[in-house]
Amino acid sequence: MNSYDVIVIGSGPGGYVSAIRCAQLGFKTAIVERYKSLGGTCLNVGCIPSKALLDSSEHYHLAQHHFKTHGINAESIQINFKQMIQRKSDVVSQTADGVRYLMKKNKIDTYHGHGSFLSSTKIAVAGDDHSTTELEAKYFIIATGSKPSTLPNITIDKKRIITSTEALSLGELPKSMIVIGGGVIGCELASVYARLGTRVQIIEYMDGLIPGMDKDLAAELQKVMKKLNVDFYFNQKVTGAISDEDGVIITANDKDNKEQTFSADYCLVAVGRRAYTDNLGLNAAGVSLDERGKVIVDEQLKTTAPNIYAIGDVIRGAMLAHKAEEEGVFVAEVLAGKKPHIHYHLIPGVVYTWPEVAAVGYTEQQLIEKNIAYKKGSYPFKALGRARAAMESDGFVKILADQETDEVLGVHMIGPRVADVIAEAVVAMEFRASAEDLFRISHAHPTFAEAVKEAAIIASEGRGINI
Ligand code: FAD
Ligand code: NAD
Repeated sequence: MNSYDVIVIGSGPGGYVSAIRCAQLGFKTAIVERYKSLGGTCLNVGCIPSKALLDSSEHYHLAQHHFKTHGINAESIQINFKQMIQRKSDVVSQTADGVRYLMKKNKIDTYHGHGSFLSSTKIAVAGDDHSTTELEAKYFIIATGSKPSTLPNITIDKKRIITSTEALSLGELPKSMIVIGGGVIGCELASVYARLGTRVQIIEYMDGLIPGMDKDLAAELQKVMKKLNVDFYFNQKVTGAISDEDGVIITANDKDNKEQTFSADYCLVAVGRRAYTDNLGLNAAGVSLDERGKVIVDEQLKTTAPNIYAIGDVIRGAMLAHKAEEEGVFVAEVLAGKKPHIHYHLIPGVVYTWPEVAAVGYTEQQLIEKNIAYKKGSYPFKALGRARAAMESDGFVKILADQETDEVLGVHMIGPRVADVIAEAVVAMEFRASAEDLFRISHAHPTFAEAVKEAAIIASEGRGINI
């Protein structure tokens, strides 16, 4: 039987990054992945393919709606949807091949098949060819990720009633689509299809989009998505779904308990994801789950079994690729006797609509709830030269700073390329910068990042320069 210092189960951004760090720190390491392609949800059916389709659809949208104003005549532009999906698949396979290369480079043994614990030191890997390989290790890292959730009254048939996985690989461009859930997946994939001309209706349980993020961001996002002709139905309780070969009918009750009916070619269910631990043999290893099905871990990310750790979507916290990566590095370093640290409060959240949405730290609603006195500075992109040159006038940067100390407590942005701009705010907050610090740091002109500098001085002094 092959024996290792560390075996990582699952090759998503948590698992593969953790395996690399374990190998770098001198552990004999193996990784187990049930699918042929490495990279997990993120690379295969998540972050990467969704961004590929977001980029393609944004190009089409710009060509249709903005080129003319730029002085470019591009008449009779057409969508080749098959090619769009093919490019997305090519990006995925190149990226997954990159992970395979990294496993080789770091001398990590890769096993394909479903891993399940036989005991706390042994697993069986069941391959597609019905073969079983037993492996043992001193330590295990569970990085088995998550799967889409559904609602009790909805059956995902994967044909008409679909999850994000199917929505990233449709065989035809839908004429219409219902999206249940106006969270991150709902807004991103609604944007993709609305830009391509699909009539999109979002049905959301709460009273606004992207619940949990700052309410000003949600309001602005709704405004810009409305420009894509997306229709919104809030405070809706979905009660049922019927599908046939041609489409779907969804019923929902509004806040007055009045039933409404929605119909479309497809219905995308995007109401969150659940931890994936199916057939993992956790009982045999002594690993316990909480009431929501997540693997219980302590501050060191150790499970209830002393030699088994867990990271990423399968444990508590934000279901984000970069959070999983941080935890992967963290556990490898804990095993190596180092003293790593993760500042969970400063993990940024991004929604890749256009304009993009990005945030870190406290929202205004959280500061009010916590009774923390704060000042705020908001700067609109329409006031920024770079944004005007790019015809990108929607959105703003909002900075929240401590009323007394001026320390930055939260940064919330919606605007062009803010998914990248937010990194500056994360660095500033990690170093406990004040709003004045952010203002005094030189920002190249003209850039989108200048909106941060402007919002910072407004937060700090109550007055801006270029406004
Ligand atoms: P996963 O990536 O889910 O990987 C787990 C792996 O374990 C899978 O490959 C699975 O096959 C394997 N596995 C499970 N059980 C076993 C077993 N018993 N034996 C062997 N292998 C097993 N996050 C972001 O930060 N940014 C984004 O832009 C973003 N976009 C997203 C878009 C979509 C459509 C979706 C669905 C998600 C997106 N996410 C994004 C979330 C992100 O994909 C996850 O947070 C991330 O993949 C979690 O990483 P992980 O390593 O914990 O698990
Ligand atoms: P989510 O939690 O972001 O959104 C789910 C939405 O569904 C919420 O708005 C919720 O109120 C709504 N909802 C729940 N029950 C409902 C019901 N019965 N009827 C109508 N609406 C209902 O989850 P998601 O969008 O499915 O994404 C899953 C995970 O994947 C998230 O944790 C997210 O962090 C991650 N993800 C991240 C990114 C990114 O970082 N850009 C992109 C996609 C997904």
